[in-house]
Amino acid sequence: MYSYTKKRKSRIVRLIVLLFTLVLISVTLIGFAANKEEKSQALSANPPIVPTKQQSLDGKPDRIYKVVIDAGHGGKDPGAEGASGKREKHFTLSLSQKVYELLKQENMFEPHLTRNDDTFIDLDVRPDIANQMEADVLLSIHANTYKDENVGGIETFYRFDENIELAQTMHNQVVKAMGFRDRGIRNEELKVLSLSKVPAILLEVGYLTNPAEEAVLLGEDGQDRAAKAIVEGLKQYFKNNSEEAIIQS
Ligand SMILES: [Zn+2]
Repeated sequence: MYSYTKKRKSRIVRLIVLLFTLVLISVTLIGFAANKEEKSQALSANPPIVPTKQQSLDGKPDRIYKVVIDAGHGGKDPGAEGASGKREKHFTLSLSQKVYELLKQENMFEPHLTRNDDTFIDLDVRPDIANQMEADVLLSIHANTYKDENVGGIETFYRFDENIELAQTMHNQVVKAMGFRDRGIRNEELKVLSLSKVPAILLEVGYLTNPAEEAVLLGEDGQDRAAKAIVEGLKQYFKNNSEEAIIQS
């Protein structure tokens, strides 16, 4: 009796264990299937975010700097007369166009010219072009003149103290590239600078009345060097200022 009861009891226990195991397995399987379905539904509703080519590979700069290049003089205003009799307005246009072409190759710049041919533009219209488009910088390009042909060198003018850094950065690059005498930067009340609401400087790249400097300024190689130096100066100026902005923020 004792052994019979024990046997029967153990069979019942085994049956319960078996049933329990079966229930456990089926619950696990149902749960697994449901989970799988949920996951696939989620996947189709929100496809994984893969960066597009445009987002990741276009190499766009953080911002684009608008540069207005102002070729001094033009049309009825020929500017200085060089040692050879050539006029300043042709030099300023040629150099400005070179700077424009170089800036166009850089994706951080959006260059503009105040004139692209031999036309007269009033002095207060020039800064206004830069003001209207809220340019990041206005560069007025000129060459100097003096009664003594031995006088030479590079001068850079600014009107407002906040443009000293721009003036000095550009000036250093141009002096280094041209090798003319460094005549320094100076605060000068020039209309094109005074009326500008955007950072503005005026570069006197050399003296056209100095025969040696005129030859360099009118030559292809000299103008290429000056143009490259101006672009280098702009890059350096904006790089310095964006780094300062990061440190300040
Ligand atoms: Zn001039």
